[in-house]
Amino acid sequence: MNETGAVVIGAGPVGLFQVFQLGLLEVPTHVVDALPHAGGQCMELYPDKPIYDIPGTPATSGRALADSLLQQIQPFHTPFHLGQQVSRIGKQADGRFLVETDQGTQFLAAVVIIAAGVGAFQPRRLKLEGIEVFEGGQLRYHAAPASVTGLDVVVNGGDEAALHCALTLADLDADQAPKSVTLLHRRDVLQAPMADIAEMQMLVAAGRMRFMVGQITGFGAVEGRLASLEVSDVDAVVHRLPVDALSVFLGLSPKLGPVADWGLAMERKQLAVDTARFETSVPGIFAVGDINTYPGKQKLIVCGFHEATLAAYAAAPLVFPGKKIPFQYTTTSPRLHQLLGVGTPA
Ligand code: FAD
Repeated sequence: MNETGAVVIGAGPVGLFQVFQLGLLEVPTHVVDALPHAGGQCMELYPDKPIYDIPGTPATSGRALADSLLQQIQPFHTPFHLGQQVSRIGKQADGRFLVETDQGTQFLAAVVIIAAGVGAFQPRRLKLEGIEVFEGGQLRYHAAPASVTGLDVVVNGGDEAALHCALTLADLDADQAPKSVTLLHRRDVLQAPMADIAEMQMLVAAGRMRFMVGQITGFGAVEGRLASLEVSDVDAVVHRLPVDALSVFLGLSPKLGPVADWGLAMERKQLAVDTARFETSVPGIFAVGDINTYPGKQKLIVCGFHEATLAAYAAAPLVFPGKKIPFQYTTTSPRLHQLLGVGTPA
C-alpha cells in the first residue's frame, strides 16, 4: 500500500505539470499511467510533429515537450507507476481515497487528480473471434515476441513501431535469429522514416525478411497453439502463412474506460469541474486537462497547465489540513530553490 498526499492519474503533459505544481507545494505524489511511458497524446499521437503554442517556447515537438516536463519534475523524485490503468477509486472512512490499478497496486491518498485526457490508450485488437486466447503468449499487441529463435514470426502493421519491430528481429545474429520474419500490412505504403524503409528493402533483397500486403482474415490452431494465419491479398486471394509468434501494431485508441464508473458528474463524456479549484462533484477529486469540461473549455495544453496550477493550490490544504499554504515565486523563494535543488542568487 502506497500512502501518499496525491495520486495523479495520467502522465500526459498536464499530469506532468500537475506533478510540478504539487511538488512546489511539497505534496508527496504518485503518478499512474496506462501507457509504458510518460507524455500522453504528445508521445503517442504526435511525438515528432511541431507544437508552436507553448508559452515562451516558439517551437517544440511532442517528444521534446514531454522530455522537458519530465526534466522539470526531476527534483521531486516522484514515483511513476507505468503500464497500469487505474480501475477503482473509493472513499475511505477516514476521508482518504483508496486508488487501485488493474495490476493490483494500491494507494491511500488525501486527494486524487485525474489528468486522464481522452482516456487510457489501448491497442486496437484483431477482430477475429477466438484469437484472444493467444494474447500475452504467441500473440502480442504493440510489443515484440518474447522469444523468436528458430520461429516463424509475423509482424502486422504499417507504422514506424511495426517496421522497427520487424527490422530488429530480421537483424538478429544467426544464433538468435527467427526462422522467418514477415511484415504484413494492408497497404503497400508504410508510415515510417525513409531510412527504415530503405533498410527493410535491403533486408528483403537479402532474403532476411519478407514484406507482404494483405489482411488477416482467419487463423488456424494445432493442439491449442496458433499455427497459421489466413491472409487475404489485394486480389482477395487467400494465403496460409505459418506463424509461431504474432506481433500486432494496429495503432492505439483511447478508451475513457473506468473514469466513467467512478460516480463523478460528467457532461458529454468529460468530468464537470468548477473553474476556481478544478474539483469534480466529489470533494478531494480534481480533474485537469482534456478530461474536464467547464464553460469556455479549450482542449489546449496551456489551458491544462493553468488548471493544474489552481488544482494544486486547492488540493494542498486538503493534504495538509490546518497548515497555511504560502504563495511563493520560484524566482525569489529560498524554500522553492531548495526544493528545486538550485542555488538562491545573491
Ligand atoms: P493526455 O495527453 O491525453 O494524457 C492522458 C494520459 O492519461 C494518457 O497517457 C492515458 O494513458 C492516461 N490515462 C487515461 N485514463 C487512465 C487510467 N484510468 N489509468 C491510468 N492512466 C490513464 N495542444 C496544444 O496545446 N497545442 C498543439 O499544437 C496541439 N497539437 C495537437 C496535435 C494532435 C494531432 C493532437 C491529437 C492533439 C494536439 N493537442 C495540442 C492537444 C493536446 O495534445 C492535449 O490537449 C493534451 O495532450 C492534453 O493533455 P492531458 O495530459 O490532459 O491528456
